[in-house]
Amino acid sequence: MIAIDVLTLFPESLRWLSETRPVRNAIEAGELSLRAVDMREFGQGGYRQVDDAPYGGGAGMLIRVDVVCAALEATYGTAADRVRESRRVAVLAPVGRQFSDAVADELRGVSELTLLCGRYEGFDHRVHEHLANDEISIGPYVLSGGEIAAMVVVDAVCRKLPGALGKERSHLEESFSAELHGGLEYPHYTRPEEFRGWRVPDVLLSGHHAEIERWRQQRSRERSAR
Ligand code: SAH
Repeated sequence: MIAIDVLTLFPESLRWLSETRPVRNAIEAGELSLRAVDMREFGQGGYRQVDDAPYGGGAGMLIRVDVVCAALEATYGTAADRVRESRRVAVLAPVGRQFSDAVADELRGVSELTLLCGRYEGFDHRVHEHLANDEISIGPYVLSGGEIAAMVVVDAVCRKLPGALGKERSHLEESFSAELHGGLEYPHYTRPEEFRGWRVPDVLLSGHHAEIERWRQQRSRERSAR
């Protein structure tokens, strides 16, 4: 069981993910709880301001540290800087460590995870320094917000939870799995056997399980070597 809270200015962005398999399966199986916390509710002043201009000048706005503190304190009922003592609190940011299957495995073992989604130019750095204990990037490019990154993390972690993929065992022999020695998955084909002259490889139609397995491992090795 893993409880994931996503702090965001766009809580509705998570709805599709949570209503769609396999995330929905994991929630229904009691293996995952997924909650969106609307940081806008903790905006300061009459206008519920969540962002402000950077000290030292420069383009863009930053999400304020006091807003994130208020959201954490209301959500967990403890001092914001102590929340990270009992759970993983990860800022989604291009400067974070690179997300991978190994990081998904690691996070799957964490029972309580909070994902902080930035917008604009990101968070006041004191959020990284004093409130979080992890920083995750989903890749070397810049997105407009942390929501898509949070969904990537939730989906990849969720696939590893019991009950998420049903009885298919499809995640066992998947890209990056131990069964494929950490390599990439082999190609798959389905009906029709021939379409516009494009044929399915004969070996897959042969019924020889050992040969099929050899062919798959070989294709997996070739792909992984690229
Ligand atoms: N000024 C920042 C980019 C801010 S992008 C920089 O130059 O590094 C706005 C928000 O989108 C970030 O706060 C972060 O939460 C999210 N984001 C953008 N790219 C991301 C990535 N590759 N991985 C994870 N989150 C990302």
